[in-house]
Amino acid sequence: MDLGLKNKTVVVTGGTSGIGLATVELLLAEGANVAFCARNQTTLTEISAYLENKFPTSNILARCCDVLEKDQLDIFAKAVEERFGNINALINNAGGGRVSTFSNTTDEAWVAELNLKFFGVIYPTQAFLPLLEGSDNPSIVCVNSLLALQPEPHMVATSAARAGLLNLVHSMAKEFARKGIRVNSILLGTIESGQWQKRYDKAKSSNEPHTESYEAWLNQLAKQKNIPLARFGHPEEPAKALLYLASPASSYTTGSTIDVSGGMAKHI
Ligand code: NDP
Repeated sequence: MDLGLKNKTVVVTGGTSGIGLATVELLLAEGANVAFCARNQTTLTEISAYLENKFPTSNILARCCDVLEKDQLDIFAKAVEERFGNINALINNAGGGRVSTFSNTTDEAWVAELNLKFFGVIYPTQAFLPLLEGSDNPSIVCVNSLLALQPEPHMVATSAARAGLLNLVHSMAKEFARKGIRVNSILLGTIESGQWQKRYDKAKSSNEPHTESYEAWLNQLAKQKNIPLARFGHPEEPAKALLYLASPASSYTTGSTIDVSGGMAKHI
């Protein structure tokens, strides 16, 4: 199936690692122009060089930008407009999860987590909305988690924030439908990525069990978590769902979610 992304322009936040990087690569393979951002300039430079080598004829724009900094987003959006004009899709992906229970989450950690999950979507959407308006079949896709519907006590702040984001996506979908802009999200289970690699490195340095290799550790976690498909997802798997929702192939879908959790959802 042709997703209709060739020569379309897509912005991806958090494009240097894990799900964001897999999404950027799939978009480039589809012939889209891609602008992406992240905070670490060294990684951005390395990833840009890797992508330009792998996709030599592609249009890539990489910018250092923190999605929680409005000024940086305005500069990023201006650079995108100068290079590509309007954009067809915005993929709000940047971020990460926070492991903490109610008892050990400080006030500062609550504020930081709620800030990241809400404003990590609100600020990029504000910055790129003018470039989405008036473009062909515009779409916003947000990376969310199954925690929005199935909270976990060991990720209390992330779960609560994710539920709020799911609610926000519905309101945005209703409001932006008038402008023809679709807004959807994906609900993830556990996807192997940079943040899991970091958690593995920490477990290994603390000599926790099953840390002889990253793969063995992930397999053990998948078993513990009772994932029906019995494994972590690969970053390309949610990336494919993101491409579908970002593309004109999903032109009659808004205010909706795709579950990419390997069967972890308990609801019907
Ligand atoms: P990674 O750590 O592999 O990638 C995160 C990316 O986001 C990096 O490019 C990082 O670069 C960037 N980033 C993080 N914070 C910011 C910021 N404030 N501004 C701009 N860029 C930022 O993680 P994942 O691929 O796992 O995560 C992607 C999304 O998926 C996140 O929103 C995460 O919460 C969500 N998710 C992931 C799950 C999983 O199991 N992997 C489960 C549920 C949700 P840099 O650090 O340089 O800024």
